[in-house]
Amino acid sequence: MPKSVLVIGAGAVGLAAAMRCAQSGAEVVVVDAADAIGTQTSARNSGVVHAGLYYPQNSLKAKFCVSGREMLYAHSARFDVAHSVVQKLIVASDDAQIDALRALQTRAAGNGVTLDMISGTAAQDLEPELRVEAALVSPKTGIVDAAGLMLSYLTQAEARGATLILNTTVDTIRRVRDQIVVTGTSAGDPFDMAFDRVINAAGHGAYDLASQYWPDAPKPPKLWAKGSYFAISGPAPFDRLVYPLPEQAGLGIHYTVDLGGQGQLGPNVDWVDQMDFRVDPALEPVFRDAVRQYWPAVDDRTLHPAYAGLRPKIEGGDFVLAARDGIITFLGIESPGLTASLALGAWASDQIS
Ligand SMILES: Cc1cc2nc3c(=O)[nH]c(=O)nc-3n(C[C@H](O)[C@H](O)[C@H](O)COP(=O)(O)OP(=O)(O)OC[C@H]3O[C@@H](n4cnc5c(N)ncnc54)[C@H](O)[C@@H]3O)c2cc1C
Repeated sequence: MPKSVLVIGAGAVGLAAAMRCAQSGAEVVVVDAADAIGTQTSARNSGVVHAGLYYPQNSLKAKFCVSGREMLYAHSARFDVAHSVVQKLIVASDDAQIDALRALQTRAAGNGVTLDMISGTAAQDLEPELRVEAALVSPKTGIVDAAGLMLSYLTQAEARGATLILNTTVDTIRRVRDQIVVTGTSAGDPFDMAFDRVINAAGHGAYDLASQYWPDAPKPPKLWAKGSYFAISGPAPFDRLVYPLPEQAGLGIHYTVDLGGQGQLGPNVDWVDQMDFRVDPALEPVFRDAVRQYWPAVDDRTLHPAYAGLRPKIEGGDFVLAARDGIITFLGIESPGLTASLALGAWASDQIS
């Protein structure tokens, strides 16, 4: 008998899990509280396919990022998801930062990611508007159309019989004998259904659900780590992505470009107490100052408030993956969760048999 599987959350992780489970023969239902797929964190990120260079060796972030990146590139090529391996430069703005670049190079090597160190002049040859002392080149970093990626997961899941139900919020999850009973509301009507397995991929909603069946689940912080973006007027100033050295809760305000050629700066880290996605225009000088040290010509450009996301952080700082009593739980799937989505989905599928 095929297993019946409920996936809660139609973001990148839930949809990848749904696709993998459906491909393995399970009967899959995906629900999401929103009226469309991928409207939360999966729509509010940099769209970068990370190489896997930042994360501590043997962390789940390192493992799932490195394997997920290769899976993502192969999947995108196969299913015509727009992507480009544009590469990334991580820059040192002064001599003092060069040791930190070397430390990052060593950490990346521990994750199997090779980065070459180049001089400031060589960096400027690659990207004429850059003014840096040195840079690391990440050849495997890319960008992907996150919306197209999620649609491809859904299309493949539906091709194997999966069903998507939107406007459906799960409120409770409990184990009853050998089944998992979930309750909630669908288009305003209450429902109560039983499944063999449940995958909790509810992003910011995952902890509230997990705490019902896993009392000592790792907790999110009390505040949200908001990241805002500003769009850059005019043509894209760089072909490659440009990152400063990482900081405590994020990767530092960096330059990315989307597949349409729109350059942007972000995200910053702003601890907030409301789930609020507005970008404060007053932050503009913060963004300008942050990049001026490696991109002085930013002062020739106008920066426009663009969008913001909230990082789904969790105690411990790594991804949390758990499979207990038929319930598979994803907590703390912040960056590089988009990159890792296929590897996370494959892991979830392995847990349902
Ligand atoms: C500012 C920022 C930049 C980032 N940049 C990158 C990047 O460049 N590269 C990268 O790899 N990663 C990046 N990430 C991380 C990446 O976006 C996330 O890891 C990934 O999108 C998480 O996907 P998800 O499916 O777990 O969550 P989500 O996309 O949030 O999906 C969860 C879904 O669950 C639904 N839901 C919640 N509660 C319930 C409920 N009770 N019932 C039903 N449905 C529910 C929500 O509506 C939502 O659709 C970034 C994140 C942020 C915030």
